[in-house]
Amino acid sequence: MPHSPARPDLAALLAQLPARPLTRFAPSPTGYLHLGHVVNAVYVWGLAGAIGGRVLLRVEDHDRLRCRPAFEAALLDDLDWLGLVPDLGRSPGGTVESAYRQSDNGPVYAGALSRLAERTAVYACDCSRRDIREASGDIVGEETPYSGRCRARGLGSGPGVGLRAVLGSGEEAFTDALLGPQRQEPARQCGDLLVQDRVGQWTYQFSVVVDDLHHGVDLVVRGEDLLASAGRQLRLAHLLGREAPPVFLHHPLARKPSGAKLSKSDGDTAVRELRAAGCTASQLLGRAACLAGLTDTERPLPARHLAALFA
Ligand code: GLU
Repeated sequence: MPHSPARPDLAALLAQLPARPLTRFAPSPTGYLHLGHVVNAVYVWGLAGAIGGRVLLRVEDHDRLRCRPAFEAALLDDLDWLGLVPDLGRSPGGTVESAYRQSDNGPVYAGALSRLAERTAVYACDCSRRDIREASGDIVGEETPYSGRCRARGLGSGPGVGLRAVLGSGEEAFTDALLGPQRQEPARQCGDLLVQDRVGQWTYQFSVVVDDLHHGVDLVVRGEDLLASAGRQLRLAHLLGREAPPVFLHHPLARKPSGAKLSKSDGDTAVRELRAAGCTASQLLGRAACLAGLTDTERPLPARHLAALFA
């Protein structure tokens, strides 16, 4: 039996959402789309459809060392096959518009960095992961918060040197549309936030906040593995001048029958392989809806019926 979470309280969930929101489907092309992405897509397109919202497709290829154009092409092909059409980011059957592909938007991130540096301290940091682990005794959850070792070292920026931003102390309180009230303390969880890594790449945390602000995303729907990022993203958005924060909805992750998290390396759950094995798009969406706890039994579900899951 697949591991299914409890069915969410839809009335309570919908009451938390902005009217006619802009939400996003934002995969990183580091591998093929898998069932976990399809669960996320069921939430994203289903909710948007149910409340008159729009979906933006964003290719999160900030990590140039891990992303491949072939995976971007494959994810577009898989979305077409699934019948999932975004309102923004690409025309049906077309390629991704530059404004929605992170690797094409260096100047947007550079501009945001300048704004950030006017509001908080941004400093160069050459610490490796190992330095960070060794310098910090206090591990919060699965994270090792940055100790602040380079804050006062006055390093110059350049090759092999990253950039960190001081997020400031105190809690970020917000209400997750599915999980309810949350309190997070970014400085204790992650310390000063890495904005650009030592290779010169914009980090996930920074680029996603800049993009959501720049694109006008006001509803962030994603898996609960990213819940711990929400507080620091809210703090960063505020520092970047965002007035109204986005609403977050973190949904349960698709799990293997054993309860373990799915990953891109699980060939048996890649959309490609399920397609090749003869699974239809409606069967796959139906399986994802069931894995998400949105239906009690697994039955075929075409993309045009996703909104009905939340209506
Ligand atoms: N690009 C991220 C991923 O593929 C999602 C980021 C987000 O939704 O904030 O896991």
